[in-house]
Amino acid sequence: MGNAKIRLFVDQPIGAGQAVALNEAQANYLFAVMRLGVGASILVFDGQNGEWRAEVAEAGKRKGVLICVEQTARLRMPPDLWLLFAPIKKARTDFIVEKATELGAARVMPVQTRFTNADRVKVDKLRLHAIEAAEQCGGTFVPQVDDVMPLAKVLADWPANRRILWCNEHLAGVAEALPKGGDTGPWAVLIGPEGGFSQEEQDRLAAMPQVVQASLGPRILRADTAAVAALVLWQAHLGDWVGDQG
Ligand code: SAM
Repeated sequence: MGNAKIRLFVDQPIGAGQAVALNEAQANYLFAVMRLGVGASILVFDGQNGEWRAEVAEAGKRKGVLICVEQTARLRMPPDLWLLFAPIKKARTDFIVEKATELGAARVMPVQTRFTNADRVKVDKLRLHAIEAAEQCGGTFVPQVDDVMPLAKVLADWPANRRILWCNEHLAGVAEALPKGGDTGPWAVLIGPEGGFSQEEQDRLAAMPQVVQASLGPRILRADTAAVAALVLWQAHLGDWVGDQG
């Protein structure tokens, strides 16, 4: 069987005996960088059918074929948790998407707020960061990464049954983190930009019945730190860090 430690996300359905065609980048990585040849085993996942051990059946310079042999892990869906955040500088935005994937967000939604001050967001690159993070953290699911949307539009269309954990820096040190007895339905975490939320945005959020305001402790965190802290807080209270983690 070999030591199938390399994990690769493949954008096509996998299953017993399924042939998986590799693209040029994947073939280059497996055969030129990792120096694998025909018969070598790797692990693949497609975000829907768990993780499978697959064997190299054809190894070319620009293409190749894998054959799925046996399932090695079932699909583990994260909780129904979305992360809404205002994009910041590129490296820090990349970090947020990577950590959201590792920490188990199901959907990542960059939102344009009044004081968002970001480099141009390349969503395709963010999607690749999510895939790489899932490959490295043993995940079998890759979160959906949306195009940037105005926060006002997102809130105007907001589902009635989805709670929003609004991380409000004005509550720093004066409020509880996650209020007790929070329900376990669909949720989202909302993190603002470096400049915080405008008065209009704060009024809009405060008027929404789905919104729960939270403090992330006594200090004002940078937006990327705040995203990680809020996801950890939510997962530890209401998410899949609680109870059976299998
Ligand atoms: N410019 C704002 C200020 O000086 O008050 C700080 C914004 S902070 C850098 C970016 C975002 O992180 C905030 O909009 C909020 O969502 C979140 N955040 C940071 N620290 C927080 C805290 N202690 N409690 C709640 N949210 C916090």
